[in-house]
Amino acid sequence: MTLIDLTPRAVTAPRLATLPVAIIGAGPIGLAAAANLLERGIDFLVFEIGDDVAASVRSWGHTRLFSPWKHLVDPASRRLLESEGWTLPDPDRAPAGAELVERYIAPLAALDGIAARTRTRTEVIGVSRDGMDRTRSQGRASTPFSVRIRTASGAIEDVAARAVIDASGTYLSPNPLSSSGLDLRGMSEIADRVTAALPDVLGRDRAQFAGRRVTVVGAGHSAANTLLALVKLAREEPGTSVTWLIRNARAARVSSSPDDELIGRAHLGSRVDRAVEGGDIALVDSFEIVRARRVDDGLELVGHRRGEVVSHPADVVVNATGFRPDLAMLREVRLDLDEIVEAPRRLAPLIDPNVHSCGTVEPHGFRELTHPEPGFFIVGMKSYGRAPTFLLATGYEQVRSVAAWLAGDTASAVKVDLVLPATGVCSTDAAAGGGCCS
Ligand SMILES: Cc1cc2nc3c(=O)[nH]c(=O)nc-3n(C[C@H](O)[C@H](O)[C@H](O)COP(=O)(O)OP(=O)(O)OC[C@H]3O[C@@H](n4cnc5c(N)ncnc54)[C@H](O)[C@@H]3O)c2cc1C
Repeated sequence: MTLIDLTPRAVTAPRLATLPVAIIGAGPIGLAAAANLLERGIDFLVFEIGDDVAASVRSWGHTRLFSPWKHLVDPASRRLLESEGWTLPDPDRAPAGAELVERYIAPLAALDGIAARTRTRTEVIGVSRDGMDRTRSQGRASTPFSVRIRTASGAIEDVAARAVIDASGTYLSPNPLSSSGLDLRGMSEIADRVTAALPDVLGRDRAQFAGRRVTVVGAGHSAANTLLALVKLAREEPGTSVTWLIRNARAARVSSSPDDELIGRAHLGSRVDRAVEGGDIALVDSFEIVRARRVDDGLELVGHRRGEVVSHPADVVVNATGFRPDLAMLREVRLDLDEIVEAPRRLAPLIDPNVHSCGTVEPHGFRELTHPEPGFFIVGMKSYGRAPTFLLATGYEQVRSVAAWLAGDTASAVKVDLVLPATGVCSTDAAAGGGCCS
């Protein structure tokens, strides 16, 4: 068993103390990490691949969140914003993603102390230790991190950092359509007819779906959101048909759960149930996708269904099969990840979707997020690996604890005191697939 140094000694060594903390991703959690570090007077740099902050939330900005405003704002960020005259929007109302950006994330990112340290259109492509690949151990903990970035102009730079907080989310690395988890055979033939999860069916992306046979693959709430938008589109645009293709016998996580305390989420489930019962959505269950092929009038998904080889025709496919963490850039970092969930090993038992629902996650902080690489943390959506149940309130407590640890305030770092919103029970059905928010 590897013994992990849980004291902040390593990241406060003299050689490191002058360097910034590198934060990967300017989503809500990366920026909350920035706010916590700012409050504690610790220098940092935020790298964001998108043209602007919160690029991923902007992509699904037309989608309404389930949580109300009072559970969407990080406490440290709120303190900083309120000192500049900001006020919390209606605490009991749930905003759409675009409003979350406009009224909270963008103003937060615009604060002087954060804006000056944020570099957009900058992709982190690798993390290592200065002059040390992952096999070198001597002096490792006191050696600066080396964060390799690709700038907007395409230039490659290595930036030295005392610690790294990876808040890059999972939105940019969707699961493949195939049931095996491997890249779908034949994907190149149909790629121009497959869209990522949460397309703006009634707005920006309408022309892609109007009058088409649309198949949504996946059993989570992203699928449900898209299905309901497509049902509306089908009423307005003749010739549009909607099929929901899932690999299990039942989409337990989406189908209405009367015990779901998040009203919006419960309604979503029951509306999908009604649309299926009413014939507006054709449900194809127990379909394991194996490969795809192009045919004259569209495409076919080929797979197994109840022991038979079957094919399913469509014009357009929405891939709502969920997301997975992109670990390629962390190849030189010593990680300790759970082999099932791909979350930090100590965190995984708390969130394993085979056991836990959205409502049962326990409070956790830097200790559960620690890897054998001192000073390196995965936080936010990415810290949940393949588990789809992440909520912002959890991530805000994660980064509060990590920032406290980086500041040497161990007492505050260990005192994780998460007041979780009433998130309700999505499902504890191990076979269901999908999840709370994916
Ligand atoms: C439709 C939907 C609804 C949701 N509803 C709720 C809800 O009601 N309540 C709730 O609490 N949670 C909800 N969530 C879950 C979760 O809170 C969000 O996904 C949230 O955006 C996660 O924040 P994050 O900062 O961890 O990741 P993200 O928001 O994904 O941010 C990661 C950032 O990192 C950037 N990035 C990625 N890779 C790199 C790289 N290599 N280099 C530089 N930058 C990079 C991305 O561009 C992005 O801006 C919802 C999620 C979805 C998709």
